[in-house]
Amino acid sequence: MLGLMQRRELLISSIIQHAARHHGEAEIVSRRDDGRIVRTTYRALERRARKLMGALRELGVRFGDRVATLAMNSDRHLELYYAISGMGAVCHTINPRLAPNDIAYIIGHAEDHVLFVDACFAPLAAAIAPRVAAVLRAIVVLAETGEMKQLDLPPGVAQLDYESLVEAADEQDDWPVFDENTASGLCYTSGTTGMPKGVLYSHRSSLLHAYAVNSADAVAMRATTRVLPVVPMFHVNAWGLPYAAPMVGAALIMPGRHLDPVSLRALMDGERVDLSVGVPTVWLALVHHMRQTGGGFRTLKRIMSGGAALPRALVAAFAELGVEACQGWGMTETSPVVTYNGPKPATAALTGEARLDHAVRQGRALFGADVRAVGPDGAEAPWDGGSQGDISCRGHWIAKGYFRAPESEIADDAWFPTGDVGLIDPDGFLLLTDRSKDLIKSGGEWISSIELENIAVGHPDVAEAAAIAAPDEKWGERPLLIVVPRQGHEPRPEELRAFFKGKVASFAIPDRVIVAAELPHGATGKILKHELRRLYAGGK
Ligand code: ADP
Repeated sequence: MLGLMQRRELLISSIIQHAARHHGEAEIVSRRDDGRIVRTTYRALERRARKLMGALRELGVRFGDRVATLAMNSDRHLELYYAISGMGAVCHTINPRLAPNDIAYIIGHAEDHVLFVDACFAPLAAAIAPRVAAVLRAIVVLAETGEMKQLDLPPGVAQLDYESLVEAADEQDDWPVFDENTASGLCYTSGTTGMPKGVLYSHRSSLLHAYAVNSADAVAMRATTRVLPVVPMFHVNAWGLPYAAPMVGAALIMPGRHLDPVSLRALMDGERVDLSVGVPTVWLALVHHMRQTGGGFRTLKRIMSGGAALPRALVAAFAELGVEACQGWGMTETSPVVTYNGPKPATAALTGEARLDHAVRQGRALFGADVRAVGPDGAEAPWDGGSQGDISCRGHWIAKGYFRAPESEIADDAWFPTGDVGLIDPDGFLLLTDRSKDLIKSGGEWISSIELENIAVGHPDVAEAAAIAAPDEKWGERPLLIVVPRQGHEPRPEELRAFFKGKVASFAIPDRVIVAAELPHGATGKILKHELRRLYAGGK
């Protein structure tokens, strides 16, 4: 017997309709390229998204077509998110930090006919256009009428400006209703290994993920929250915030391209931001800035960190500033949030060092997704806090394959291999130790590069650190540490090695410490370990 309850499709458009109706006056504040601050509301944004839907239809976009964006976080990008997915097309967010070759490849692979770009990325789009002229019909610059000068585009690729396009469009009365399993978004992995691969989200997966992100033990936004997503909307849908924030009526403060610590702090203080979300690199720079200038945040209470391990020292530094630092874990293929480090009865009362030790854990699975570690024998590793294994996960918002790669598809209940290595403690908290390809194995013992890096950035002279495996005749591999000094400091390798004593087993203490001016970062802000191995450890 079936239940007698209404069945409604879980559609992304329902989020913005709810926000417009129940949180109509809630704000979206955006910083434009030139630094200007503009304000709108969910009510106004929903209406403009319906106009934009009309504009997309006039441009020839049909159900299922991919529409690309190359843009930072702003109200306009949010309108695009809702208009594109809302009409049943696929919002393909492109990371502008990828190499132009990769961008051209993914536009061709996705067959994007229309590309929306921030004015600051218009030259990049124009440079790529000749290579994608076979698929691309129009580049729409997110600018006012007449604000953007004419780009040099190949024949057949039109240049349009966003505001005149929206202005001239017919406002559509209704949001269409269709199957909740329809594709809504497309995001390519950064392609550090092989060509970028497309992850194709659905309305259902995005909606369920947004619910989970908002649960009380996760990011937990509410109508009174003022959230600043530093994580870009081209990076795994800004971890779902463009859906999760309007779902509860939280105000969205969009930093545009102004992601330096001075601008971020000014925006946080000026716009009464209480929650901000981003990667550790951003937080390290912000904390450094706070130390240099003194004083505290006016309203910031909480940050969420993800994308790379949250260093212990950073949790402590934020605590000194009166800000709670939490972390979540996931990847492009997992929408991304799978685990979040929310307290349990056993951990809620931890204080001091024990609290910091716990904060470096990536967290426990949110309802709707599951995680496990698989040991070398192929069986699930016990949750004993010591047995390490390959981390895999499954759930409502985990990919079952890549776009246009049928050979990659797995079953609906299969476990998706993440490429991460870690362990799970008796309370179910995941602790990542490495990426499988970055593991260091010395004399048969595994050494966690994340743990070494975490300790290194706790040293007062160190701003950033990376540990890699260097080939060694006797031990197979030995850990090598590369550090970037804090401004005005001169770390001494011997002293740094001594700093590890008593903190890790003696075999895990790096043999060599190299002081470098900077570390190479990839398109999503992660340290490029393969590049470091090439530079410092004779790797390829
Ligand atoms: P994102 O950076 O948004 O999480 P990517 O797909 O670019 O997505 O990268 C995913 C990888 O980033 C994960 O497989 C993992 O190695 C790393 N990662 C993500 N979150 C964390 C975290 N909290 N701690 C350690 N590593 C993390």
